[in-house]
Amino acid sequence: MFADIILPIPFDSFTYLVPPTHQTARDLRGCRVVVPFGKNKIYTGIVLRTHTNAPQGVEMKEIIEILDDSPVVNEHQFAFWQWIAHYYMCPLGDVMKAALPGAMKPKDLEALRESTRKRKARSDSMLLGEPTISHFLNPAQQQAMGEIEQSFRDKNVTLLHGVTSSGKTEIYIHLIDKYLTVGKQVLYLLPEIALTTQITERLRLVFGDNMGVYHSKFTDVQRLEVYKRQTSSMPYQLVLGVRSSIFLPFQNLGLVIVDEEHEQSYKQQEPAPRYHARNAALMLAHMFGAKTLLGTATPSFEIYHWARKGRYGYVQLTQRYRNMQLPTIEVVDTKEAKRKRLMRGAFSPRLIEVMQTALDRKEQIILFQNRRGFSSFIECRQCGWVPRCPHCDVTLTLHKKTSTLTCHYCGYTTHIPERCPACEESKFTDVGVGTEKVEEQIQKLFEGATTLRMDLDTAKTRHQHENIIADFAAHRADILIGTQMVTKGLDFDNVSVVGILDADTMLNLPDFRSYERTFQTLSQVAGRAGRNNTPGLVILQTRSADSDIIRQITQGDYRQMFYTQMQERQLFHYPPFQRLIYIYLRHRDDHLLDHLAHEMSQRLRAIFGDRVLGPDRPPVARIQSLYIRKLMLKMELNAPTDQVRQALLTLQQQILAIPAAKSLNIYYDVDPL
Ligand code: ADP
Ligand code: ZN
Ligand code: ZN
Repeated sequence: MFADIILPIPFDSFTYLVPPTHQTARDLRGCRVVVPFGKNKIYTGIVLRTHTNAPQGVEMKEIIEILDDSPVVNEHQFAFWQWIAHYYMCPLGDVMKAALPGAMKPKDLEALRESTRKRKARSDSMLLGEPTISHFLNPAQQQAMGEIEQSFRDKNVTLLHGVTSSGKTEIYIHLIDKYLTVGKQVLYLLPEIALTTQITERLRLVFGDNMGVYHSKFTDVQRLEVYKRQTSSMPYQLVLGVRSSIFLPFQNLGLVIVDEEHEQSYKQQEPAPRYHARNAALMLAHMFGAKTLLGTATPSFEIYHWARKGRYGYVQLTQRYRNMQLPTIEVVDTKEAKRKRLMRGAFSPRLIEVMQTALDRKEQIILFQNRRGFSSFIECRQCGWVPRCPHCDVTLTLHKKTSTLTCHYCGYTTHIPERCPACEESKFTDVGVGTEKVEEQIQKLFEGATTLRMDLDTAKTRHQHENIIADFAAHRADILIGTQMVTKGLDFDNVSVVGILDADTMLNLPDFRSYERTFQTLSQVAGRAGRNNTPGLVILQTRSADSDIIRQITQGDYRQMFYTQMQERQLFHYPPFQRLIYIYLRHRDDHLLDHLAHEMSQRLRAIFGDRVLGPDRPPVARIQSLYIRKLMLKMELNAPTDQVRQALLTLQQQILAIPAAKSLNIYYDVDPL
């Protein structure tokens, strides 16, 4: 007997001999096995299927050990893995790596047994009793709840479009409760940085031990514990998790909630599978015949478009809970202020004045600057030389606290040179403003004001992230400065002012989604101002004060923004009017890559005609010493997607068969963001 086994490497499966001692009737599908690979590697894999078709002309290796008595991957999961591999065009091995915690290595199992014993001891000692502490819904929430249930009668997916603080979370809680009551499982998805202690505790109060939390920053053992529990006869009925929790074993999923559905971080960019957790969750729910509720204050165009067309249900909440006013957004024209030399660093006089008033009243402030580090780069004063990463095609970012220059793509770090290697000059200018520089400027502008900074440098770990939130919530600092991390899942009740230091860098990104994204991000940031008793004030600094998009943001006019932008999308054939697949080629040799990319594009054009664009060099055209080319395929919505995928994969094999293409790396990004 033979077994096809998925291994944690980028292939679908490999065939092995099942040891004679196991030639029983027992089906090994879904069980973990240990196998030899290559000359001296050992892998743990998952049996995809067993069969009796001896492969021809290959030397068979035998399974070393079978680790499970019963499957750890169920049929629902297999179907889902197959769908991910097919849709996102990647091998099953990559899907398995994303789907299983720490590849479920045997050594983790020992640790698991230990922690399960501890958990059991803990829960045995806890008092039994129902927690149930949810709030009563107000009339607007009740109506929304009714509409959601109504729409679920004939639609599988519903969009809950509610302004920030309208009480969406409270509605989720009531809905979850209904599904749990009838014995269904619920998956509640949140973007990575929004899954904070604040939200976990709020749900824990209501659902107690019935809820499992699945976070990528948990250890392998903690994640494995949740995973194993879901395969048991007593699984958590509610899982609160980040994108990878769509891969957990579910038994009778009834409802999926995707909160902040517009969030870009639902998309896994690197490594494969480059899946979008919201879209994959829609498929997961479909496979279970479950319902999906997508919640957000600023829907993604894709979802809003289909909700308007009637494919999805649509429910709105236009008022904040208790009719709290939305913050006022005031635009400050920095072009004008700069011309008059009134700017003090990144701060306009108006922002300084508003901040000073808030500080005098002992109120707190959040400042948003979407770039970490001190400056974007440094430049030689005399000759203009700029230090760049030796491995990537980008400039190095200055981090002043550590006196280092760092590559934000590969992590390469070096010291600031004493002298310019080109002209020996010893003075450098720093260009651009990062969060670190903002913090330094504050200390000069507002004497005695205390600050906290939240970005990838200060909030590397979950622990650091939570500490910053807790410190700010306890008013241990007056001002919180941060990248878009400060926009997610936070609920502070003493913040009266939000400052957006520079809206232009986001707006000017060369990306067809940049306006949609800026609208979403800035609305989120603005929503942090004036929760609870004081209406907030948002100061938005920009050089394009008169533009339509800035007006739409200040007026919170999502619909107008949507209509304007959709006209452009239609005109230039972008999603949601068309589908996109990016095809990436990577190689160490730039010349050879150029040649192969052109070869590939010619062959693609022979099939797809002018639906093919490129090859282009992406904005960062070399990462970790590999050069990159990008091809783009734009398809009509009714294109036969299975055939398109098949054609691409066939072409890939032809290209890889060219002798010079030996170490060429080809991969796909389907529905790229
Ligand atoms: P959203 O998810 O739309 O941002 P939340 O559900 O977090 O809004 O609600 C905002 C605030 O209002 C929270 O502090 C929440 O506890 C409170 N709130 C919302 N609905 C109710 C309710 N029905 N009863 C009591 N408090 C509520
Ligand atoms: Zn120089
Ligand atoms: Zn680099």
